[in-house]
Amino acid sequence: MSELKDKLFYKQKHLQDVLDEAGRAASEAYCDKYKAFLSTARTERLANREAIRLAEAYGFHAFDRNAPLKPGEKIYHSVHGKMLVLAVMGRQSLAEGVNICAAHIDSPRLDLKQLPLYESNEVAYFKTHYYGGIRKYHWVTMPLELHGTVSLADGSTVDVNIGRDESDPVFVITDLLPHLAYKQSEQPLAKGIPAEKLNIVMGSLPLDGSEGADRVKLNVMKLLNEKYGITEEDFLSAELEAVPNMPVRDSGIDRSLIAGYGQDDRVCAFAELQALYETEDPEKTAVCILADKEEIGSVGVTSMQSQAFETFLGDLCDKQGVKLAHCLERSFCVSADVAAAFDPTWPEVFELRNSAKLNYGVGIAKYTGRGGKSGSNDASAEVMGKVRRIFAENGVTWQYAELGRVDEGGGGTVALYLGNRNIATVDAGTPVLAMHSPYELTAKYDCYMTYKAMKAVYSSK
Ligand code: MN
Ligand code: MN
Repeated sequence: MSELKDKLFYKQKHLQDVLDEAGRAASEAYCDKYKAFLSTARTERLANREAIRLAEAYGFHAFDRNAPLKPGEKIYHSVHGKMLVLAVMGRQSLAEGVNICAAHIDSPRLDLKQLPLYESNEVAYFKTHYYGGIRKYHWVTMPLELHGTVSLADGSTVDVNIGRDESDPVFVITDLLPHLAYKQSEQPLAKGIPAEKLNIVMGSLPLDGSEGADRVKLNVMKLLNEKYGITEEDFLSAELEAVPNMPVRDSGIDRSLIAGYGQDDRVCAFAELQALYETEDPEKTAVCILADKEEIGSVGVTSMQSQAFETFLGDLCDKQGVKLAHCLERSFCVSADVAAAFDPTWPEVFELRNSAKLNYGVGIAKYTGRGGKSGSNDASAEVMGKVRRIFAENGVTWQYAELGRVDEGGGGTVALYLGNRNIATVDAGTPVLAMHSPYELTAKYDCYMTYKAMKAVYSSK
C-alpha cells in the first residue's frame, strides 16, 4: 500500500531533509551576499545602483546601441536610474528567443509630498504620501531613514541619504499614547492611523536669533540647505523616500530566517542578479529585468508596462537582423516575485494544500490575481510543465504557491505584462512572512532555492 502511495501521491520535502552539508553551506554563503545587497539596496534607485556596481565587478558593461555585440558579452541598460535590464548574450540567434527572469526593485514605503515641510506648534514635520500597499499602523513609532534625489534649478542633482549611517539621526512618526487612545482604539484597523497623520518629526529647535512664525521650520530648512544646498522650492523636483531603518539580520534561534525590509521583491531581484552574474556563455541569451513601479500597478516609464524593455531588446534584435516580435514569440519568462508564505499564526486566510510553506523551496504560481483569477497571467499547463522540468533537471526544490484562500484578497505581479507581449510566462518566487511590512521574514533555504531556480532558467534550452 505505501509503495502505491509513494508512486501515486505528490510529496514535498523539507529542505532540511534535502540539503546535505555542502548544500547548506552554499545556502549560507549565498544568503550572506543577499543580506549585504538588501542592506544597501534600500530603495529602487539604490538597488539599481548596487546591481550595476556588482555587475561591473562581474564583467558587465553599459549597453551601447552603436557597438557590436558578441556571444558571451555581458551588458546592462539602466532606465532613468530606477529600472535595470541586464543580459548575457547567447550563442544562438535571438530568433530562437531569450530566457527572461523579471523581478521588481520598488517596495512599499512612505514618499515625501512635493511640499513636505511644515511647522505645527513648534515641531517641524515632513508630510508623506504612502507608496504601494502598506498597513498604515506599521509605520508609526518606528525608526525611518530618508533616501532620494533632488533635481536642482541649475539642472544638477543631489542625493539625499540620512539615517543609514549609525552616527546619523533617524526619523519617527508618532502615535497616540494608550492613555489617550480610547477612541482611536475603537476604530477599525484600517482607519486607526489616517494617511494624513503619517507625518515625520523633523525637528524641534527654533533657529537661534530668529523671530515670528516658523522658526523651527526655518532651522530645519537651514540645516538641509547647509548639507544639500537645497531650498524649499527644490522639494518640488525631488523624490524622497522614507524607509524602515532596521538592520537586515538573521532571525530565529536556529538562524534559519532573514529579517529585513524590502524583501518583496529584492529577494527575487538579487537571486536573478547573482544567477546572471555567474552565467557564462549561455546557449540562449539570458535577460534579467529589474522593474520599478510594480507596487503601484507597473505604470510609467520605469515600469514593466513601459516600452523601455522593447527598446532594449529591440536594439539587440536589430543587431542580428531579427524581428523583435519573433524573438518575443519564442522567449520564456519567469516572473520572479515573492509568494505569501503560509503563516501558522493566521491559518484562516490560507488554503494549506495550495500554499507555500517556509523551507519548502521556491514557490511556483500558475496564476495570481483576485476574485476568479482576475488580473493574472494564468500560465498554461505546458508552461507549468516546462518550468517543472527545468527545475527538476537542475536540482531546484520548488513548491506550489497560491496567494491565500479564494476571495480572501489577492495580488498581482509583472507576469501579465510579459504575457501580454506574447512571451510564455509563469510566476515563481520566494515565500515571505509578513509581506509588505517594514520587517519581512524569509527562510534562507528558500532564498537559496530561488537563486538556483533563476540559474536554471537562464541556462534552459
Ligand atoms: Mn512583489
Ligand atoms: Mn508587493
